Amino acid sequence: MRILFLGPPNAGKGTQATRLSEYLELPHIATGDMYRHHVAVGDGLGEKAKPYMERGDLVPDDVTNQMARERLLQPDVKRGFVLDGYPRNLVQAEFLDSVMKELKTRLDRVLKFRITGEVLIARSSGRRLCPTCKTVYHMEVRPPANDEVCDNEGTPLLRRKDDEPEAIRNRLEVYGKDTKPLYDLYNEKGLLVEIDAIGSTEDVFARVLEAIR
Ligand code: AMP
Repeated sequence: MRILFLGPPNAGKGTQATRLSEYLELPHIATGDMYRHHVAVGDGLGEKAKPYMERGDLVPDDVTNQMARERLLQPDVKRGFVLDGYPRNLVQAEFLDSVMKELKTRLDRVLKFRITGEVLIARSSGRRLCPTCKTVYHMEVRPPANDEVCDNEGTPLLRRKDDEPEAIRNRLEVYGKDTKPLYDLYNEKGLLVEIDAIGSTEDVFARVLEAIR
């Protein structure tokens, strides 16, 4: 199966996409994770992406499209994929379409995560990340055993720079302007299924499974 996850930042796409990819035994392709990896190792792509990411802006399309294409052409993607955070605007969606044609395949389903603005802000302000093992915590929903240190590593937890209020506001604006038009596009193609993204991880995952059946 070839599944795409769409939704605003902090809608829980990453958590659900990870679970679904394990369940279906398909690669989870998340452009945000790929960029964070490049920033962490400090290579050329990371240097390029970092300032955009910190502001909550999109990294330029040509860079993102090439990175996504390279990943999608790898052999482990042949059986399918769970794509998360890409495409994020119409230019990227068109490019993805051309890659699907190149691979002689097509998307099966596009899942739209529906959530309210207040829930998004609450989620982002509580989110913390272990810089060592990358485990994601939430100070209310999934707090670490000891205050603000990782359960696995004992490392002090960090807040992602793009979870700071200013960056979050910008990310939501970018989402509204650039990403939302994709809903119409995929709806017209008959691929879009809407999911209520408010609720426990278990509840939302049950809805995800229902949506891809
Ligand atoms: P995410 O974890 O998906 O919210 O992505 C974190 C950041 O990585 C975004 O705010 C962008 O700066 C960058 N990024 C991830 N995916 C894309 C994309 N498809 N196009 C442009 N920039 C992206």
